[in-house]
Amino acid sequence: MKKIAIIGGGASGLLCAIFCAQKSLHVDLFEQNSKCAKKILVSGNGRCNITNRSLHVEDFFGDNISFVKDALDEFSFKEFEKFCHSIGLLLDIKDDGRCYPLSNEAKSVSSLLINYATRLGVNIHVDTKITDIKKLCDDYHSVVIATGSEAASHLGGNRDGLEFALNFGHTTVPTYPSLVQFHLNSNIAHKMSGVKLAGEVTLLVNNKKDSTCRGDVLFTNYGVSGFAILDISQRASVALMEYSKVDISVNLLPEFNAKKLSDHITKVASLQKEFTILDILAGLVPVKIAHGLLEDLKLSHSTCTEDIGTKMAKKIANQMLNWRFEVQETHGFRHAEVAGGGVNTTEVNPKTMQSLKQDNLYFCGEVLDVVGRRGGYNFAWCWASAYMCAKDITKA
Ligand SMILES: Cc1cc2nc3c(=O)[nH]c(=O)nc-3n(C[C@H](O)[C@H](O)[C@H](O)COP(=O)(O)OP(=O)(O)OC[C@H]3O[C@@H](n4cnc5c(N)ncnc54)[C@H](O)[C@@H]3O)c2cc1C
Repeated sequence: MKKIAIIGGGASGLLCAIFCAQKSLHVDLFEQNSKCAKKILVSGNGRCNITNRSLHVEDFFGDNISFVKDALDEFSFKEFEKFCHSIGLLLDIKDDGRCYPLSNEAKSVSSLLINYATRLGVNIHVDTKITDIKKLCDDYHSVVIATGSEAASHLGGNRDGLEFALNFGHTTVPTYPSLVQFHLNSNIAHKMSGVKLAGEVTLLVNNKKDSTCRGDVLFTNYGVSGFAILDISQRASVALMEYSKVDISVNLLPEFNAKKLSDHITKVASLQKEFTILDILAGLVPVKIAHGLLEDLKLSHSTCTEDIGTKMAKKIANQMLNWRFEVQETHGFRHAEVAGGGVNTTEVNPKTMQSLKQDNLYFCGEVLDVVGRRGGYNFAWCWASAYMCAKDITKA
């Protein structure tokens, strides 16, 4: 019987193991942690954004990104959904295409995959860290590297897969944290720690507008987080790696334009003579934000309405719609959901995930130089690449 070794019991390793075991192969799955699927468990804030109904090459990043096309075409959303239904895992498909387990619980995904793999006869060896890949390649018909990326080291993230690949003459694309928070070069941001607002963030690279995302912006004691930040973080992280100057411009009130906002400030100032500028801003944004904004503009929060002229109102309005912060660095791999970069995909067959350097070696999941947008795309890549891998391994 063909013997398969899979290194890594995360999303991609587990699905690859399942597909191999379904064809009655002998599968040994090695996982360094005391249990498999730790990242699945914490994914999507405990709900697991398991995939996306609409999967396109443009949703992914990497140096050779057309590499993902074959896998996405072949193991499309429909195929994945069919697999899920076959194990009784129903999906809740949101209007924007994001999919969650119907249970709304990541744990149901991880336990179903682990239990199904076990029932199919996959030998899951937990607490087993592989260090010698060459020996595995000698002992097994096929070896799959499904070790993930450096993201979230507390859940098992590391560079082992890249080191294994280097052993066989593969090259790697420099890695960087993605879907990650930012540290800001600001002595005001941390004073607004804990405040979340629905804003719009524009990324500026070397002072040029790069991209804009709407969504939650959360100030923290180290800088800034929130969905809008995570969504621009891939491009920001690459720019930082290239030593570019990276700034964000935060629009606190995306529904306003500068004139409407400045008119509002002057109108309230004229109606409420006893108000201070802080009172006026408190009607628009959280008080901590108002304090921070005024401090940054070097305006006293007790400035009275009679001193708020059109010029000052315009200045405040502009700052509220275009508040610039310099990004110092990302919050690092440990806090990132995923990592960009990885094993160079020009050295891997896109139809089989087989190494072009070593016949019985395969890769799947995040260890490859493929990273997705937020929205279920990273799991989608894990499922699709695992399927391609297993399809080739089991074909004979
Ligand atoms: C907080 C968080 C939330 C996320 N939410 C989502 C989401 O909602 N939707 C989404 O699409 N993506 C999400 N992601 C990303 C997603 O979890 C990853 O892209 C995905 O888990 C990667 O799967 P993988 O199989 O490639 O690697 P992993 O899941 O990282 O699995 C690799 C496994 O290999 C093991 N391993 C490593 N080296 C060795 C070794 N030498 N020997 C033995 N075992 C080893 C590791 O311990 C690990 O268990 C999230 C990630 C995080 C951290």
